[in-house]
Amino acid sequence: RDEIRERHREAREELIPDEPAQHYIGGEFVESASGETFETRDPTTGEVLAEAQAGNSEDVDRAVEAAWDAYETEWSEADATKRQRVLNEIADRVEERRSDLARIESLDNGKPIREARADVALVADQFRYFAGATRTHGGDTVPSGSGKSIQTIREPYGVVGAVVPWNFPLLIATWKLAPALAAGNTVVLKPAEETPLSVLELVREIDDVVPDGVVNVVTGYGAEAGAPLTEHEDVRKVSFTGSTAVGKEVMKAAAENVSDVTLELGGKSPVVVFPDADIQQAVRVMMIAMFYNTGECCTAGTRLFVHEDIYEEFMEAFVESAEGLQMGDPLSKDTRLGPKVSEEQVERTLSYIEQARDDGARIVTGGGQPESDALADGCFVVPTVIDDIDHDSDPVQEEIFGPVEEVFAWSDYDEMMERANDVDYGLAAGVITNDLSKANRAARDIEAGNIWVNQYNDFPAGQPFGGYKQSGIGREQAEDTLEHYSQTKTINMNL
Ligand code: NAD
Repeated sequence: RDEIRERHREAREELIPDEPAQHYIGGEFVESASGETFETRDPTTGEVLAEAQAGNSEDVDRAVEAAWDAYETEWSEADATKRQRVLNEIADRVEERRSDLARIESLDNGKPIREARADVALVADQFRYFAGATRTHGGDTVPSGSGKSIQTIREPYGVVGAVVPWNFPLLIATWKLAPALAAGNTVVLKPAEETPLSVLELVREIDDVVPDGVVNVVTGYGAEAGAPLTEHEDVRKVSFTGSTAVGKEVMKAAAENVSDVTLELGGKSPVVVFPDADIQQAVRVMMIAMFYNTGECCTAGTRLFVHEDIYEEFMEAFVESAEGLQMGDPLSKDTRLGPKVSEEQVERTLSYIEQARDDGARIVTGGGQPESDALADGCFVVPTVIDDIDHDSDPVQEEIFGPVEEVFAWSDYDEMMERANDVDYGLAAGVITNDLSKANRAARDIEAGNIWVNQYNDFPAGQPFGGYKQSGIGREQAEDTLEHYSQTKTINMNL
């Protein structure tokens, strides 16, 4: 315990400035209009990592104004060559600072350092991908009669308001920043109150690369800083990642201004294991599908449908692997399972487990916090596997957002598929089988935006990502994302 505390204190002293973090508006680091700050804590030790500005509508107004200024005077004039160069330079800086950015992310969010490093590598790759994509993002010529010339051009919206959650703080911010900038917009971004530090470090690093006001960051709570941004009448495009409940509010607010929205919301994703599957391979996939990022993935494969012929054999191997996951200090390279992001999230996870227990479900393993003294300061929850649980119950229908797998045996394909689709969400799904026709059929039958076959949580740039049903609107990370950050203008000329 002392060793972990000491290691985290040293990392904090090395990586995080002592003075309170500030908003980044118009290229300046500034205090909030109210002068108020909030604390962000290290979920491994419970200690305060830093103070950040508690933004409000006045700060948001300032940032939106700075973003419009930068759009009008600078960024709308920047051609695709310049935008490409800036995005590539951002990627270079991310790569130069990858170790620091990963450690800051790991301190603030609690994610294992190996996963934080993977996030940062994807951040750089996303900027590079959109640096390239900006060069091919153009319009069309429309076939027309003689004497006419009709063409379409793609124009940016102007100012984009982006609000992001705490589970992949830097990566999800990038999923919005990179395409928004590539399409020619300027951005005001609000990070989650739990994890503001990595994004602030990024903008400190790229301050001399990006023209003032092109990227602005306002920190603070959802109601005080997030809502004024998504409701702002001068924000022409809102991009939100977070819970479905807040996503609905964001969509209502956008409706008032008739602004375009991208929503990446919750999930309760099924994984289907067919009887021919290689059990060891299926277990390896499930360790990533369920326990990556401590289960704090919107895509987490939380409802596992295993064919009854292999159910027992699979469960034995799955539970053994889950119990064997190394839980501990996220800064240690061997750790596979870190703490959850906050006490509040621990309570949420435990209360769902409690509810499942009360409903008569079987807790096959886990179901609580670790007993180890060394982890007593942190927000840890042990890997938990539950079966014999009612598919209609809240712990199955709602997002737990922790390391909790719910397992169902199946025999009839159609019945299983009906259940797999019987949730409000449709973000992602997995299929595990060696039979490609079965894989293809299941992939088509599942109502979800992203299907992984014999793998999970693979996010290369260029692969569209987004949800069906209440999991969202729009697609991120791919070329067609640029369509969501720009609008079509048609020019019809009578020659
Ligand atoms: P959340 O919805 O509570 O918060 C997300 C962000 O919205 C935070 O920055 C928060 O401050 C802000 N916010 C809160 N209330 C707001 C309001 N009224 N107006 C504007 N902004 C507001 O979600 P969370 O708990 O931070 O994140 C977890 C959720 O995010 C999960 O549901 C998860 O599935 C989802 N998520 C989805 C994806 C995806 O791509 N689909 C990715 C990661 C996380």
